[in-house]
Amino acid sequence: MSDNCLFCKIIAGEIPSQKVWEDAYCYAFRDINPQAPVHVLIVPKRHVTGLNDTGALPDQELSACLHAARQIAAQEGVGESGYRLLSNCGPHACQSVQHLHFHLLGGKQLSERMD
Ligand code: 5GP
Ligand code: ZN
Repeated sequence: MSDNCLFCKIIAGEIPSQKVWEDAYCYAFRDINPQAPVHVLIVPKRHVTGLNDTGALPDQELSACLHAARQIAAQEGVGESGYRLLSNCGPHACQSVQHLHFHLLGGKQLSERMD
């Protein structure tokens, strides 16, 4: 846990969230400002700042986030209709929370554009 990290506080239950998934290595909850009918944030429980910091995350914990994504998509009913999984890294990508997270977006036709 990192002091003053919003997502660490959410994982610890110090800040409320709408949990959709939890296992030994990751936690997932609904985005407070959803960009799609399904917008879930998947985070490793271990604090790492983002994609540039995944060297500090054991492979098992990183892969747990991806396996969770597949299962959350199915749970949310978008496994077959389709979904997008993305992680913003750094200023040009507008990363606003410095704890690695994957956005899972679905439930509508998403844009072909990625920007
Ligand atoms: P980023 O911009 O870093 O890729 O994504 C951060 C995400 O966290 C944003 O989509 C934002 O809406 C979400 N977020 C920020 N604060 C909170 C919060 O307190 N609770 C929840 N559930 N989501 C949050
Ligand atoms: Zn954190």
